[in-house]
Amino acid sequence: MGPSSRTPKLCMFCGGDESLGPMNKEHFVPRALWAGKRPPGTITLPAHISCNRAFSDDNDYFRTWLVSQEGTEHSEADKIRNGPVLRMARNRRRQYTRYIQDFAFRPRFTESGIFLGYQGSFAFEYQRIYRVMKNVVKGLFYFLQGRPLLSTTYIGVYDDPNDPHPQTESLVSKMSPWYGFGDTVFGWRHVFCENMEQMACLMCFYQSKLFYAITHDTRKEAKADESLTSGDPRGNSRALGAGLLTPPKPSTGVSH
Ligand SMILES: [Zn+2]
Repeated sequence: MGPSSRTPKLCMFCGGDESLGPMNKEHFVPRALWAGKRPPGTITLPAHISCNRAFSDDNDYFRTWLVSQEGTEHSEADKIRNGPVLRMARNRRRQYTRYIQDFAFRPRFTESGIFLGYQGSFAFEYQRIYRVMKNVVKGLFYFLQGRPLLSTTYIGVYDDPNDPHPQTESLVSKMSPWYGFGDTVFGWRHVFCENMEQMACLMCFYQSKLFYAITHDTRKEAKADESLTSGDPRGNSRALGAGLLTPPKPSTGVSH
């Protein structure tokens, strides 16, 4: 599937062309999530070498965070934990410490304040995770539509699709089946709204960590809202940072 036969040479990250710098084929799902060989269905897209390099530390961070999550049980995640992450803990102590700073057992609460018990977690840098997830959404969109998202398009990312508002539920019910690259390290479902700049998707890593994302064309706000199945995505949904993708609560000082 996908428009592989017509690949415009535009950067998946910034949308610019080759006049802005040399380009390469890059993985829109961080390749660091695989310990060894990636599956044959892996998708690459054009990207500036400099744009790609700018995200490499975020990708490493994202991987370390992901495999350290309680409940991330997957053979490939095990290999990452016992391989690159362990090597980083031994050989690049300073970087590792920076990644897992402030590890602690913290009380967990639901949105409404119900105590859920204690869970080991570190105050993760959600802005970094947001950047990585935004790139995955950009890559998915580019792959599915054959063109990059407009630079003006807002991308909302939410890390708890089990707490949906009515619009999310309605969009999820219209989504494609799960797709992947040939394994279960990464999978996604998607749906496009009438306004083709608008895509909602579910993304799953290691069959355990789920993200929901929606793109919103800020140029055509009125029109975009009409085309949605129910309600206004910004009115009902919580913006990232203030909403579902937040550090463990109560957080003791997230540093950036
Ligand atoms: Zn670029």
